[in-house]
Amino acid sequence: MTGPGENACQRRGVSCGACCGIYNLTLGEDDRSRLIRDRTAEFANVDLTQAGSFASYRQAREAVEAGIPRFNAETYVCPFFGIPRGRDSAGCMVHPSITGNPHSQNFSFYGASICQTYDCPNKERDVNLVYSDYCSRFPEYARLMADTRFFNLLISLPGFLQTLAAALDGDPAERADWLSRLDALANARLLAPESQAVASFEFRRFTNDEEELLDVFGHLNQFDRVRMLDTFRSLG
Ligand code: SF4
Repeated sequence: MTGPGENACQRRGVSCGACCGIYNLTLGEDDRSRLIRDRTAEFANVDLTQAGSFASYRQAREAVEAGIPRFNAETYVCPFFGIPRGRDSAGCMVHPSITGNPHSQNFSFYGASICQTYDCPNKERDVNLVYSDYCSRFPEYARLMADTRFFNLLISLPGFLQTLAAALDGDPAERADWLSRLDALANARLLAPESQAVASFEFRRFTNDEEELLDVFGHLNQFDRVRMLDTFRSLG
């Protein structure tokens, strides 16, 4: 069910900040949550009417977070990703809908034009939020939603999104087996190091060839990789 104003980045109770770099920090779930709470608490002191206040916050947070190793040194980590004022899930704390200032994202490294126009490939391809609905069943919503390689594979199955929509809406008993096989793939993919450092920018081949599939599950042993290959093929 899609509520008003919901999109793949912001669903009721879950959100994704992969493109803002939050998963580029080598942090476990608890430390990442703590970091987001720290950012949020510090940003509460920012005076939204003072440009210098935004700049000071950014400078201070970048300095504090500089010591946290990155998975990818080229991917920027934006300290404005936290829990926006008046919201209960993470998002952009300087989004114009929060600050009332259409230019407030210009205080960030990317700037308002990039922040407001960038949509990750998965968001663009999941226009009806079917895959987003599926991902929202997982605590790791963002890491599945932003994983372009995994979604590439899934939508290479003919009619995948239609089958998924039917499975989510239909008789649970009828579709339980299909969904449980998809869950097995998703849970296996969440263990991949690539999934833990997801940025939404990786866009590999749009194919379901065996080599790509086995590489997506390259963290598993040979037996389990072949099992995932068979599971994947059984979904088509
Ligand atoms: S300013 Fe841009 S990069 Fe930073 S949190 Fe907001 S949308 Fe993400």
